Amino acid sequence: MSELAYPYEAPASQALFDRAAAVTPGGVNSPVRAFRAVGGTPRFMVSGRGPYLTDADGREYVDLVCSWGPMILGHAHPEVIAAVQEAVARGTSFGTPAEGEVALAEEMTARVAPLERVRLVSSGTEATMSAIRLARGFTRRTKVIKFAGCYHGHVDSLLAAAGSGVATFALPDTPGVTGAQASDTIVLPYNDLDAVRAAFAAHPGEIACVITEASPGNMGVVPPLPGFNQGLKDACAADGALFVSDEVMTGFRTSRAGWYGVEGVVPDLMTFGKVMGGGFPAAAFGGRADVMAHLAPAGPVYQAGTLSGNPVATAAGLAQLRLLDDAAYARVDAVSQQVQGLVTEALAKEGVAHRLQTASNMFSVFFTDRPVRDYEDAKAQESFRYTAFFHSLLANGVYLPPSSFESWFVSAAHDDEAVQRVADALPAAARAAAEATA
Ligand SMILES: *Cc1c(COP(=O)(O)O)cnc(C)c1O
Repeated sequence: MSELAYPYEAPASQALFDRAAAVTPGGVNSPVRAFRAVGGTPRFMVSGRGPYLTDADGREYVDLVCSWGPMILGHAHPEVIAAVQEAVARGTSFGTPAEGEVALAEEMTARVAPLERVRLVSSGTEATMSAIRLARGFTRRTKVIKFAGCYHGHVDSLLAAAGSGVATFALPDTPGVTGAQASDTIVLPYNDLDAVRAAFAAHPGEIACVITEASPGNMGVVPPLPGFNQGLKDACAADGALFVSDEVMTGFRTSRAGWYGVEGVVPDLMTFGKVMGGGFPAAAFGGRADVMAHLAPAGPVYQAGTLSGNPVATAAGLAQLRLLDDAAYARVDAVSQQVQGLVTEALAKEGVAHRLQTASNMFSVFFTDRPVRDYEDAKAQESFRYTAFFHSLLANGVYLPPSSFESWFVSAAHDDEAVQRVADALPAAARAAAEATA
């Protein structure tokens, strides 16, 4: 696709991107933001309000990314902002314990029954990295099973066949990860319990844990088949390994108790991030009290963080979680279903082969006519149609993830007007997808 093929230009964003490229590799601080999968100029946002984002050129978009999940109440929610302002006025970091982190941990453990103890960190990456270390320290084993297409942050040992940006750029692995780290990671196809059982049979007593996205959203939305997560849990229990459920994306989004609240499978360890930080860097890992008791200073497995449990971040997260009542989830679910319906209708009208896949209120569209059950299926989609679809929507004021390997997200702030703007933009986008060529 040449520059001219994009429906319109974004000169202010382009100028910022040029400045950024002179000081930052690729001009961004997280790869998928660079639009490389879809081409064109990444939009530099200057503000957000409810369901909308405004870019440097003054254009407004209905946001269907929501900061990759965290902004489940919409942007700049007045009560979250008030909680942040109140906290920030009392100081931004103490380097001591503070009540806010206790209150956030209490709110989380009250919602998610298997979360008996929780440790706060600053990113989802830190959460999964620490959970893996703890699983290894607790079991005194080294190997980890992960699934192709699942993304658990940029932890060295978990980047093998990862989703998200790693999928977007078709990176098989990454330079900088040692052979030893990679060789302790067993990568299996998602939704394939036979492969899991075979791996346990091949490495009895060696596997510290199985880590999986509770319901994957980093290769697009590919929910677990019925019984898959329970099967993982059972296979782990039979061998003395731990079952680690990564709820960084699904936690406090897919229900008030996350994917655990949807499916009820009890993990040994869980990881969280995104929604629990209310738009600030806050994340967590936790689970069984006897396992968590191995963590310093209670136990020998070391883990720490200068800004862990930061008072401003915990105030934002707590305010957001307290606002996330049944009515809020009902609204998010309803908007999600409305948008899903509109997308399917528009694509069907143009005869575009597609699969809309859902996991509670998370959803994404694959341009393929076959069900997508694993990463291989996801890679078989016609991503060039997504590119055309994406740019048409962008030109008409709807902001989708700039990659066909990501979940779409809505918020409780997406009102009828926002949904109408999406509805108005969809017919042209569906036509663009239909007419796209590889
Ligand atoms: C986003 C994500 C992570 C990484 O979280 P960061 O805060 O970006 O480090 C880990 N696991 C899953 C499932 C995610 O979606």
